[in-house]
Order: sequence, then structure tokens, then C-alpha cells
Amino acid sequence: MVTKSSERILIANVLVSPAHYIGGQRVSSKKTFTVISPIDESVLGEVAAGGEKEVDEAVSAALKAYPEWAALGPKGRGVYLRRFADIVESRVEELAAVETASNGSLLESGRLRVMKRAAYNIRFFAEWAETLKGKSWESNGTQYSVLYQPSGVSALITPWNAPLMLTTWKVGPALAAGNTVVVKPPEWAPFTCSLLADCAEEAGLPAGVLNIVQGIGEEAGAALTQHSGISRISFTGSVETGRIIGKVAADRIVPASMELGGKSPLVVFADSDFEAAVKTALGQYDNAGQVCLAGTRILVEESIADKFLDAMKEGAKKIVLGDPRNIETDVGPLITREHFMRVQGFVERAKKQGATVAYGGKVSEKLGGLYFEPTLFVDIPEHAEILKEEVFGPVLTFQTFRTEEEAIEMANNTEYGLAATVFTGSAERAQRVRSAIIGGTVWINTFFARDLSAPFGGSKKSGIGREGGDFSFDFFCNIQTVAYKA
Ligand code: NAD
Repeated sequence: MVTKSSERILIANVLVSPAHYIGGQRVSSKKTFTVISPIDESVLGEVAAGGEKEVDEAVSAALKAYPEWAALGPKGRGVYLRRFADIVESRVEELAAVETASNGSLLESGRLRVMKRAAYNIRFFAEWAETLKGKSWESNGTQYSVLYQPSGVSALITPWNAPLMLTTWKVGPALAAGNTVVVKPPEWAPFTCSLLADCAEEAGLPAGVLNIVQGIGEEAGAALTQHSGISRISFTGSVETGRIIGKVAADRIVPASMELGGKSPLVVFADSDFEAAVKTALGQYDNAGQVCLAGTRILVEESIADKFLDAMKEGAKKIVLGDPRNIETDVGPLITREHFMRVQGFVERAKKQGATVAYGGKVSEKLGGLYFEPTLFVDIPEHAEILKEEVFGPVLTFQTFRTEEEAIEMANNTEYGLAATVFTGSAERAQRVRSAIIGGTVWINTFFARDLSAPFGGSKKSGIGREGGDFSFDFFCNIQTVAYKA
């Protein structure tokens, strides 16, 4: 099926282009791929499937637009980017509705938080770029300065669990840095990135500054990372894809930032605020567990473990699994049948390996479809896969520890290092445990607090590099040292 470049499809009452956005134009492809809604597995539409040709056109458009965009400087770009952010913000309702239809995330959370954060990502980095100072000093009669310069065309590749928010987390700083961009959105939820192109157009961003190439990762994504015209690759997604992209980047010596998966611990000491810790543990089912930062390994001090487990069981009964468009729903569906099968596979293997299901463990009898029950495993053999691999679904594990040392050892017993959450009433213990845990972000008595000026990224297999605040510009810019002798 060939999409027409002028065609729009109706998704959640919003007209969305299924075409690419290249050099300020909608561009179709001979090939398409089908996008399914997780809500009821109905077909949402056929989307243009780009390959080498479309990627080449997009990178060429971005290269053409680059000199003028870079020459505008942070203030000049800020005028466009603030307008861009305002327009994204003005379309929060539409964006949230389309995102929910595409990836099954909760409509209310999209409307109230996630889409606003997408707009804020653009505004925040536009403002940050204007205050970037670099450094300047004198040594041995020579004046040194460090300058942040644009670096060319950035390739931005994002996953489906929060497509618009994660895309603007890269688009914002890359454009603010003076780069032009080619985005490859996730093929399971490509539509809000298409709407982002509409917002860019309405904001008057010059043609070629922001380009979107839709398509399958192994085709469009691979062609993009391999293109000789790009100077940066910023990738968020799985470790497997990160490994492939890393090899391409290494071959071409292109800086690549990798925000990958996680298997984060949530450590609860007996001296913690019990209610807050239980609430946070149950909060790990948000977005049906399709959250990279989720603390999926619940580790509880033995003296409160029974009480904690009972409280989780009680709390889980109250979680409303259902249509993500309904305001009372807490947890929606998994994204696709393929992903559902993957999650189910993890659950079945965990049972076979001897783990016990405390609750959940299957598709909802009432709802069917892709609605997987919030699940908790207890009495898990040490070797079980469920303790090691990222499930990316509403599946948590529950383990107990006796001492602080044991808690730290268990928390670090993973190949991942994206985040960790620690609940304790003792500031000294918090400090000791925090310093021993290997993780890009450690939350103490809180979860998911994010400030965009703070570095974000993973240790160990959870990623390479940090983005956020100056760190985004350290990555997206060419950093130049000037040594000047008067
Ligand atoms: P994925 O790796 O399958 O896909 C991510 C993106 O990469 C998609 O756009 C896909 O089309 C593209 N892609 C796939 N193969 C490619 C290739 N060979 N070359 C170039 N691009 C390619 O990941 P996913 O299933 O979409 O997302 C889930 C994963 O993302 C989980 O592991 C999750 O933890 C991780 N994630 C990490 C963060 C973070 O900030 N660390 C945030 C969200 C999700």
C-alpha cells in the first residue's frame, strides 16, 4: 500500500499524517507498515516505511538547513523553539489522545503530565542553551576558553513507551545546540512524532531543521545510523539495539549516547515510611510496567516483609486494569501482541523455574486482549531469569534481606544500572546505601523525581553517557578549546 503525502488518517478524532516529514514537506513511501492500537487491537493505519532513500533525503535536507540554523545562535534559535514549545503545549489534548490510542498509556497522565513535559523539554533546553557559558581562564600568559559549538546533523531514535516525551528530550537540546535533526520514531507508536512535525511547521521552523523518517528499526533506523552525513546518534531503547547501533557508531567514530533498559531495585528498610514505600512499590505497575526506570525488584527487610507483602496484595486488588481512556483506570494494556507474548513468556518461564505467583500472572479474564494483570512473584530461586532480565511489563519480584550489606549486594546483583530507589528513615543509612549502589539515578524516599538540569543515564548495561542540563550539550555540541596568546 502506498500512502499519499497529502493523506491524513483519523486517530482519536485527530487527523494525523502517516507520511514522513522531510525538508518541510510530507513525503510518502512505496512501502508501509501497519499500526495497531493496544486498546482493542484494531488497525489505526498504514504508515510510510522509509529506507535508505528517505533517510538520504532527510539527512540531505538537514545538512542543507544546518548552516543557517547554527548561525542563528542560541537566542535566535530560542525564538523559534519557544514558539515550538508553545504550540506543542497548546495541543496537549490532541497529543495525549493520539498517544493513548497508539501505545495504550493512560490518557489522564498524558493530558496532565507527559505531553506538558514534552513541551517543557523543548522550552527548557532552549533557555538552557542561552545561559551556557563554557569556561574561560588564564594560564602562563595564555587565555583559554571552552566553547560549545553545533555539531551538524543529529540522528534521534526513540522507543514506544513514551514516544513524544522521549523524542522531545532529544529534539529540544539537539536543536537548541544548533544542530538539525532526523528523528526515527518507534514503529509501534509513530503518530505523536508525526504531530510533532506539524507543530514544528506551525512554529515556522525553517524547512529541514526537523525531519521525521518513519519506518522499521532494522531498515529506517539502521539506514539513519549508517548515514555518513550524521554527526551524533542519540538512542533510547533496548540493550540489543544499543549494541547494534554502538558497533555502527564505533565503525564511523560518531559519538553515540545510549539510554537503555533497566532492572532496578526498590529497597525498603524496616525504618522507612511504610505506607509511602508500599504505595511506591505498587506504583511500579504504572504504564503497565513499560517504564525503563521501574523498580521491578522489590527488596524488603525481613522484619517487615510479611506485612509489606500483605499490603502489596491488598493494594494490588484495588488497581483498576482497563481502557486507558477511562479516568478510573490505573493500568492499561501492553503495547502489542508480540510484546504481550514476550511478557507472558517471562511469566511462564518464571513459574517453570520455581517462582511462586503471589497475585496476577495472566491476562485479565474480564478484559482479555492485551490487558495483563499486575503480577508479583515471591519465593524465587536465585538463578531464575525473572530476577535478571528486563520484562518491561507489569511484573515485579519480591525478595527479602536481613542486613544492609545483603540489601546492597542484592540491589547490585544485576547487569543493569539505570536507577535504584531506597526507602529508609535514616539519613546515614541512605548515604551509605546510595554510595554503594551502582545506578545512574538513586531516589531516596521518593520515586521518579526528575529535574531536567540533572544528568540522566545508565551505568553498566543501562547505557553510555548522560543527558540533561549541560550534559546534553556536552553530547550534542562540538566542544572547542581555544588557547589565545595576545
Ligand atoms: P528497541 O531497541 O526495540 O527500539 C527502539 C528504537 O530503535 C525504535 O525506534 C526502533 O525502531 C529502533 N531500532 C530497532 N532496531 C534498530 C537498528 N538496527 N538500528 C537503528 N534503530 C533501530 O526498544 P523498544 O522495544 O522500542 O523500547 C523498549 C526498551 O527501551 C526497553 O529496554 C526500555 O528499558 C528502553 N528504554 C530506555 C529508556 C531510558 O531512558 N534509559 C527510556 C525508555 C525506554
